[in-house]
Amino acid sequence: MVHLFEMKGKKIAFDSECSSIYVLDDLSYNLLERYRRKGGERPSETELLLFSRETETDPGEITEICDSFDGLISAQSLFAPRIEADYSTLYPDGPIIKAMCLHICHDCNMRCLYCFAGTGDYGTHNRSMLSAETGRKAVDFLVAASGERHHLDIDFFGGEPLMNWPVVTELTDYCERIGRRSGKDIRITITTNSLQLDREKSEFINKHMKNCVLSIDGRPDVHNRMRPGIGGTATYEPIRNHIRDFVKLRESEKSAYHEYYVRGTFTRHNLDFSEDVKHLAETLDARHISMEPVVSEPGTSYAIRDEDVYTIEKEYERLAEYLDMTRKTDKPVHFFHFKMDFEGGPCVYKRLKGCGVGSEYVAVTPEGDIYPCHQFVGEKEFLMGNVSGMEKISDKNGVLLPGRRVEDILDPTVRQMFFERLMPNRESCATCFARYHCGGGCAANRYFATGSLDEEYEIGCKLTKKRLECSIWLACVKQDADM
Ligand code: SF4
Ligand code: SF4
Repeated sequence: MVHLFEMKGKKIAFDSECSSIYVLDDLSYNLLERYRRKGGERPSETELLLFSRETETDPGEITEICDSFDGLISAQSLFAPRIEADYSTLYPDGPIIKAMCLHICHDCNMRCLYCFAGTGDYGTHNRSMLSAETGRKAVDFLVAASGERHHLDIDFFGGEPLMNWPVVTELTDYCERIGRRSGKDIRITITTNSLQLDREKSEFINKHMKNCVLSIDGRPDVHNRMRPGIGGTATYEPIRNHIRDFVKLRESEKSAYHEYYVRGTFTRHNLDFSEDVKHLAETLDARHISMEPVVSEPGTSYAIRDEDVYTIEKEYERLAEYLDMTRKTDKPVHFFHFKMDFEGGPCVYKRLKGCGVGSEYVAVTPEGDIYPCHQFVGEKEFLMGNVSGMEKISDKNGVLLPGRRVEDILDPTVRQMFFERLMPNRESCATCFARYHCGGGCAANRYFATGSLDEEYEIGCKLTKKRLECSIWLACVKQDADM
């Protein structure tokens, strides 16, 4: 479908099916809007005549523009045919679990006000640590579930995973050994609040982990307001120092891996969050930044409300302008949600799948419970199984016994619940221009914001679409600069 929008003085057309982007003048933009209203067909001669009178334009000029549109349409570069992808195209062998969020502990040394994880214990009042034994079973489960898939992803998550550091190092070693034995490439990420991120841990992460997500919300007052330590202590300063040192090391040649994200959360208390992104770039020297809208129950003082959407959309525009400005320097800043590849990038089928919640991606708690993703942890109706079940279906090395499958230890009802909600089946997404870049949105955000897996989380959709527009705008200004 063709999406037309204006941003910062540019009139832009984006065809979501073929990822074509066109910057248009007023006349072409208005004319393309007429095509769009007619489902991609050339308006009739009478309609074009009327249009030429309305716009006081020479009919010959209009014919010329129409001819060039028609050429693009027949080349399938404009109003390109819809990419048909059904369940069997996307999942020829059925959805296969290949990514895991492994909860290294359910405890935390911070008390963030918006914490979705109940400040570490996920609302259970039971602060617990993952044992190496349960962690190994979780890794075995992932390897066994992944079938022929070569690349597997594990995110060491919490609470705060650095609080259980010996298990982090032991499981890293285990993943490397199992990877060699099974021929799998197990890529590790760690997500940390960085409060205990000292030099030794940083060096270990840089040697063994493909990616690292470091949480800080931006300016000191913004961060300290929402992310206090135990007893309400200010945490900005130690965290800033740790992340700054980490980033320096991560970007140096001493590090085996260079990927990282400095990740913030914005709330309605800092709708001017582009200032926080700037702060992180300028104070921590961070080049890879993400800033997520808070997701919380409606009614809290910091929850994003409908009336904030316009302000946030304008703020994304300001952020896009800032990124464009840094692109021209030797320290360009990359913003996670604006990083889209309209030329190559992952194939459309892959992009349509989204995060794979409950179908290709699961979370495992310190008790070994398996959930569709970290945000569903503790919601008993979504409990899928427990990795201790591996004892019944695998040998002592965690290798599946003949004729056994990991599905044997997973609740088929919960699995089915998520299979049925995979993106191609979602009606509201079928006509959305963001569908190849959004992948159907976050099921947990929908569930917690609306109480249903099916209701649309409208604020989330609006912000997703705005972020895509900003990415398209950035691609246009970059192209202008490259010409
Ligand atoms: S650091 Fe993470 S787990 Fe800990 S309280 Fe904050 S948001 Fe929750
Ligand atoms: S923005 Fe909303 S409607 Fe569009 S693809 Fe994403 S979830 Fe679906």
